[in-house]
Amino acid sequence: MAGEPHKIRQRRERERVLALSHLFDPDPENPGEICEATRNAPLPEGLSCRVDAAQEFLRFLKSEFSDVRRLAASALGKMAPEKPAAQTFLLSLAETAANDPHPQVRQYAAKAIGRYAENDMAALCLDKLKDMARDETAPNYVRSAAAETVAAIEEAAKRKASLAHQWCSRCRRIIGEAEYRDSVDRWGKPYCRHCSDERELEGKNFEATVENAKLRRTEGGTAVQSVGEKRIAEFLEQEDIAFLYDERFRIAEGELIRPDFYLPEFDLYIEYFGMDTPDYLARAEKKRILYQRAGKKLISLSYHDDAHLIETLREKLSRHFRIGEDGSRASLVPPPSAERNEPSPSPRNELSPSSRNELSPQAERNELSPSSRNELSPQAERNERSE
Ligand SMILES: [Zn+2]
Repeated sequence: MAGEPHKIRQRRERERVLALSHLFDPDPENPGEICEATRNAPLPEGLSCRVDAAQEFLRFLKSEFSDVRRLAASALGKMAPEKPAAQTFLLSLAETAANDPHPQVRQYAAKAIGRYAENDMAALCLDKLKDMARDETAPNYVRSAAAETVAAIEEAAKRKASLAHQWCSRCRRIIGEAEYRDSVDRWGKPYCRHCSDERELEGKNFEATVENAKLRRTEGGTAVQSVGEKRIAEFLEQEDIAFLYDERFRIAEGELIRPDFYLPEFDLYIEYFGMDTPDYLARAEKKRILYQRAGKKLISLSYHDDAHLIETLREKLSRHFRIGEDGSRASLVPPPSAERNEPSPSPRNELSPSSRNELSPQAERNELSPSSRNELSPQAERNERSE
């Protein structure tokens, strides 16, 4: 008879903690969510809202009955999808995990903390959990539950730390995971939403700028961007040399270039350069290497050549094929190999201003960093210079 109140108390606590625990039964289809049926079920007596149950679970964590403590620990873990204010009970769970006399209660408490791995407070449980994982006096299932939770918390912290260090590569603002993913998918670089939109607008403006710049027409009808290009195009037309102007090509491992002129009969590229800013020269160098690596024949000219542009062009073309005295041309002649690839074999010999500028502004648009894309001036500058 003396044991009966004790038994009755145990049954009452057990029934209450179970009833509350059922409020958080996971959806069998989606274990990360709480079952829809229980979500809509009426609240048990004494609760004003579902997460109020946490207060009762906390009390039950200190119950004299180990099965009640175990159920309470488990229920606190099941609540995780409700996103309760876990800081109020994570430390209590850690205390239980570390010190409960009953190993199963410890195991359930450690697992429950693991459901809150993303919560900043979970890191405060790490020391206790690590001790547990190392505790050779504890049963294996206790140690491994602790070790799994430690791993989950550390993984979540690492993920958060890496996200915290993603920033917009243009304005340096810290950006969220979705922004990061979207912009890297789209641009290959992290941008915030604002800068991503800006960049899209600039891309459209850039195209418009280039098209507007092609105001100069050759006698043959090709729209070009500068007086220098117009002279080159008209020379080619006059010599009846077929050319493609401002086309896109992929050379050397798929890199996109946009040479000023391409002579398909001779597989020869002509670039006319209008700038020599440090930025431009650096990209020109990269470009020159690209042509060389692809084994492409390149003739480079620049505004420095303007005074004798056609003579220079004719001389450089003659290294690749003969142009007849009367203007008629012979077929491609294999020139001495040393001259095949301008400026090889000794690029430094060719470091006249023209070959140092060996990057077509057209090609740049494919390679420009977002910030340098802002400098939409290559065409404009070139045009001014060529006027
Ligand atoms: Zn930005």
